[in-house]
Amino acid sequence: MSIKKKLISLIGAMVVLIVIGTLVINISNKNKVNDKQQSQGKVQIVTTFYPMYIISLNLLDQMDQVEVTNLTDFSAGCVHDYQLTTDNMKLLSKADILVANGGGMEHFLEEIIKSYSHLQVIDSSQGISMLIYDEHEHSSEDGHDHHGEYNSHIWLDPMNYIKQIENVKEGLIQSIKDMDPNRAEHLNMDLMIDRIEQNAMDYIQKVYQLDNELEEFLQILNNDQSGNNRTGGVAIFHDTFAYLAKRMGLNIVYSVEIDSESALSAFDVAQIIDLIKEGEIQYLFADIQYGDTIANRIENETKVKVSMMNSIATGDGLKDSYLNGMKENIQVLKEAIQ
Ligand SMILES: [Zn+2]
Repeated sequence: MSIKKKLISLIGAMVVLIVIGTLVINISNKNKVNDKQQSQGKVQIVTTFYPMYIISLNLLDQMDQVEVTNLTDFSAGCVHDYQLTTDNMKLLSKADILVANGGGMEHFLEEIIKSYSHLQVIDSSQGISMLIYDEHEHSSEDGHDHHGEYNSHIWLDPMNYIKQIENVKEGLIQSIKDMDPNRAEHLNMDLMIDRIEQNAMDYIQKVYQLDNELEEFLQILNNDQSGNNRTGGVAIFHDTFAYLAKRMGLNIVYSVEIDSESALSAFDVAQIIDLIKEGEIQYLFADIQYGDTIANRIENETKVKVSMMNSIATGDGLKDSYLNGMKENIQVLKEAIQ
């Protein structure tokens, strides 16, 4: 064989090797792409805490293209002082959408927006006018100065809650529309949007029924001329009840702005008892999630009955949690005020 021929066959062998090599690389890349498509199959929705989880569960009911995961345990309650865990961060890095209460409930929200730029973040509190902690309110000394801050516990007034559902609905639909077109087509975007719209209508309808029940009760109270001199003063042991109390036309005389009654000092308790004796406080609303120890102590000393309310910041993870919790709350309100 001449040198020329040897050279040609050598080059030929190299070409064959290069072609095979390229094919192998292409096939393995294809596998990677397939893996990626699989892991990106479902739309991953993360919610910050219980009320947001329940809204999302209802809006995304009967949709197997989505997966809803709550950042915190169902028993965790409000996330005022919550620190993100390593697991949370892993979850967020794979998520598509984050549903947040907003209004300052999630102090870690800005950090998330900065660190996970791919995330679509939905703020459920948009357009809801929030109560501001004011200096004239008696409040517990928990070392924080809340004056001028918003009370972000908006969900217990059904009308606020309806607005939150609408905000989350709009956010979800927009996020789906903004999705990569291939993925959107694969997931059948139009069907998803229709389902969300229908779910939102059904859920809002049910919340309206709760609101009607509250309204009817308010009418009865307003028409009640029996003159049982109601001052309507209320002490709330967790500021989640502020919006519900306000809705009922009650006066919040004392509010515990933190999430655990254990932070109530002896001074706080004495002050509440004084206010009850002066006739300023007629009702005590305590949160079932934090127990009734201190509220019971006050009840024993003053004979003002403690109403145990459900802040619906915790629960069993069932989609009707809000509806059931509010039905109980309305019943408790009726027993307390009538
Ligand atoms: Zn709270």
